[in-house]
Amino acid sequence: MSDCIFCKIIDHEIPSAIVYEDEDVLAFEDINPLAKVHILIIPKKHIATTADLCEEDAAVVGKIYLVARKIAEEKGMAEDGYRIVNNCKFFGGQEVFHLHFHLLGGEKLGQFV
Ligand code: 5GP
Ligand code: ZN
Repeated sequence: MSDCIFCKIIDHEIPSAIVYEDEDVLAFEDINPLAKVHILIIPKKHIATTADLCEEDAAVVGKIYLVARKIAEEKGMAEDGYRIVNNCKFFGGQEVFHLHFHLLGGEKLGQFV
């Protein structure tokens, strides 16, 4: 998707602080962190929202969770815990329409709605 900022990050057209990369998944620091650790984990395939997932995407979503676990371990968050958030469309508060999972932690997080 030529007008998608996360596709541009995947293509290194927009710089980002990458923390993990493989053929299917990219993880990078959120530009506006809401916690001590705030990392975005995305599929390299452009999928707009959770509502657009299809059967063939099941593997990459599973992989994203394993990448989240790995990063959480590397950041020392495995014992105390962390949060993985996916915002879907307008009511969910989604602003960037390329599927992404927020990995948040490094401190006690507040409750949310
Ligand atoms: P959403 O509200 O769509 O779930 O989350 C989008 C996230 O992308 C926000 O936390 C925002 O700070 C982050 N973000 C938006 N543009 C950029 C960017 O150009 N670079 C990085 N690293 N993060 C971005
Ligand atoms: Zn995209």
